[in-house]
Amino acid sequence: MTRLLMIVDVQNDFCEGGALGIEGGHTVAEHIDRYARAHADDYDAIVLTQDFHQPGSDNGGHFADEPDFQDTWPVHCVAGTSGGELHPLIAALSDDLEVIRVRKGYGMPAYSGMEGVIGDPSSGGPTESFAEWVAEHEDVQADVTGLALDFCVQATARDLVAAGARVRVLTDLSAAVHPAASAELLEDLERHGILTGTSDQNTPSA
Ligand SMILES: [Zn+2]
Repeated sequence: MTRLLMIVDVQNDFCEGGALGIEGGHTVAEHIDRYARAHADDYDAIVLTQDFHQPGSDNGGHFADEPDFQDTWPVHCVAGTSGGELHPLIAALSDDLEVIRVRKGYGMPAYSGMEGVIGDPSSGGPTESFAEWVAEHEDVQADVTGLALDFCVQATARDLVAAGARVRVLTDLSAAVHPAASAELLEDLERHGILTGTSDQNTPSA
């Protein structure tokens, strides 16, 4: 069994004050920090995903001057900018815990962490597909947290399930762009075979 804690896109631009700030983003970062440190031993790997867009590009139509906040967005999470950095509390996890860094969206829209790579696509160095990494591991069970519940958390959870993983979304460690639609969203997750729960139910993917 391979137990994963997925921490999706907890970045400055997705927290209050950022280019696409989500209300509750800072609080989510604090709660994930506390949870990850307390429960690191419950997991085989902690995966930090990062929306990581190419500078000077609309990233395949992902950025728009008049965004619709569904398919097009203001400029956000550009590689090398402070907005694109992980939230400081999440970045600091890698000082104390072993983490896998996954970057996605370099030159293209990418909501799911499963579209990302292990490594730095802006460096020209080698990268490894995270989806392949998942495929190489047995009986993957993933707890998915982070930002935003209704975009990248949802997409990551759905792709993990499609890849055969058992998946739970920890709703208290996530926040939505459109919180009014959260009931519908949770139904959608459950329809796709994804469990939803809270972090106090702390057996991974139980
Ligand atoms: Zn993006």
